[in-house]
Amino acid sequence: MSNPMSRISPERQQHFLQSLDAFSKDHRAAYWSGTFAEFLESVLPGSTIGLKAPLSCLTQARFGITWGVIGAAQACLSQLLDYTQTRVLFGRPLAANQAIQIRLAAMARGITCAQLLSLQLGRLKDAGRMHPTQVSLAKWNNCRMALDIARDARDMLGGSGISAEYVPIRHALNLESVITYEGTETIHQLTIGRELTGINAF
Ligand SMILES: Cc1cc2nc3c(=O)[nH]c(=O)nc-3n(C[C@H](O)[C@H](O)[C@H](O)COP(=O)(O)OP(=O)(O)OC[C@H]3O[C@@H](n4cnc5c(N)ncnc54)[C@H](O)[C@@H]3O)c2cc1C
Repeated sequence: MSNPMSRISPERQQHFLQSLDAFSKDHRAAYWSGTFAEFLESVLPGSTIGLKAPLSCLTQARFGITWGVIGAAQACLSQLLDYTQTRVLFGRPLAANQAIQIRLAAMARGITCAQLLSLQLGRLKDAGRMHPTQVSLAKWNNCRMALDIARDARDMLGGSGISAEYVPIRHALNLESVITYEGTETIHQLTIGRELTGINAF
């Protein structure tokens, strides 16, 4: 394989070179003049699996994300349970309304399903059988679940929901990042589509 520059758009090159500033002169020299394999060896010395090395790190990070976002969703539900039981409207707590209870129940369902998904993923990981596509599915599902709950919780807090004093809007804003980094929802969907069909649609 020739110099990696030929495979990267000018914008990406600029972004990548800024990142490379953090590296030593040796890495930059390998990037400009060497083969892609030599560059990888300079950045990841001793790696015998090339790009699989950083990609496998991403798989581990995504596994962690599947658990982290569950905590965010739980925090939103927890605050919502307090709020809806203490906020009194027309002589009764907000939580006494069927529509509120249905939304709370839906949140509990989403959190429980996500917990079971991550738990099973952890079991597969311990057994050395966790596949990156399974992690994609869990990252997609759990981030979407948590973001939907944070947004819905923000709405159920009424006007208070737009205040950073309450956790849902803080988690919602953070989850907008989490659903993007480590692969957007679309990319994880395409990964699963490829697994199902055998066709790479990227
Ligand atoms: C807060 C934050 C922290 C980050 N931290 C890091 C970090 O520490 N390390 C790191 O390496 N990166 C980091 N990122 C970058 C992150 O991983 C990328 O932003 C993310 O993977 C999306 O890539 P992109 O921005 O290049 O979007 P693009 O790839 O340009 O995608 C733009 C849009 O097009 C969609 N899309 C892309 N390709 C296709 C396709 N083939 N078909 C259909 N739709 C497509 C995407 O889903 C997205 O909606 C971070 C991002 C954020 C927001």
